[in-house]
Amino acid sequence: LMQIYRPLNFIGFVYRELRQGLTDIEEMFKLLDRDPEITDKPGAGQLEITGPVIRFEDVHFHYDPDRPILMGVSFEVPAGKTVAIVGPTGAGKSTISRLLFRFYDVVGGRITIDGQDLRDVTQESLRSAIGMVPQDTVLFNDTIGYNIEYGRPGASEKEIRQAAAMAQVGSFIEALPKGYDTPVGERGLKLSGGEKQRVAIARTILKSPSILILDEATSALDTKTERDIQQALDVVSRNRTTVVIAHRLSTVVNADEILVLREGQIAERGSHFQLLAQDGLYAQMWNRQREASEAAELLARTQEDP
Ligand code: ADP
Repeated sequence: LMQIYRPLNFIGFVYRELRQGLTDIEEMFKLLDRDPEITDKPGAGQLEITGPVIRFEDVHFHYDPDRPILMGVSFEVPAGKTVAIVGPTGAGKSTISRLLFRFYDVVGGRITIDGQDLRDVTQESLRSAIGMVPQDTVLFNDTIGYNIEYGRPGASEKEIRQAAAMAQVGSFIEALPKGYDTPVGERGLKLSGGEKQRVAIARTILKSPSILILDEATSALDTKTERDIQQALDVVSRNRTTVVIAHRLSTVVNADEILVLREGQIAERGSHFQLLAQDGLYAQMWNRQREASEAAELLARTQEDP
């Protein structure tokens, strides 16, 4: 009976949490996709940030021992720089971001931030240093202002407006009849995917974490939305140590280094132009993407003026 009861109990728990308004995807992610056995070491200290420099050193990882997911992954994100991770679905890109939050422990090698092994610091200090802009932001059923303020409860109205402006969503909000007091969500204003992502970026600008993880949406965006989001992301990642799980050409072109992950290993690495010159997996992926986006634009143009 316990075998049936346990998962039911868990569903009940999740349901209650959801009813209490815990609809933020960052929270959901913490709740659902993590190893419940991760605990702080006795006497674990606070993570001390100086860079921050992130290092993956020969990292091995599996969820299930029969199926290795990462096999000897090594890379460094220097302080203030941006590393983009690309690769086919299932390659292990999101797993890298989960390991960085220490939702799971590595099974071999180590991950450090400014020389401190993630297993030696408190989870609280680690997670408060990292901000995440998720792929699909679920907003609270509250005002749009509250949804931004959530990044740093107690922030002033001026700070909220500044964050929204930097995230390229300020003029959109100010044009609404109720401005920042506009309710959003199920019973309020419906925002597009691109608008929601910019609200998430504004929230992260307010939180001002020293490490940033961006999980780009895979869905196609129109050129203007893509440009607005790119500008917002440039602001939030400037001078922050950033890991991007990248799907868009515009993001990777600007990354300091691109890692191409395939079957749990880094198959190619370098800048956009270096990788194009190699004419390997990366070049193939992006030529395909470019063709697809050119075709979509052509289609949009023919629909505009028939
Ligand atoms: P990507 O982000 O590159 O699409 P992921 O890191 O999400 O890839 O997943 C890598 C592999 O690990 C996939 O094959 C996926 O099915 C598997 N996986 C992801 N999460 C879990 C989990 N919680 N338990 C077991 N397998 C998982």
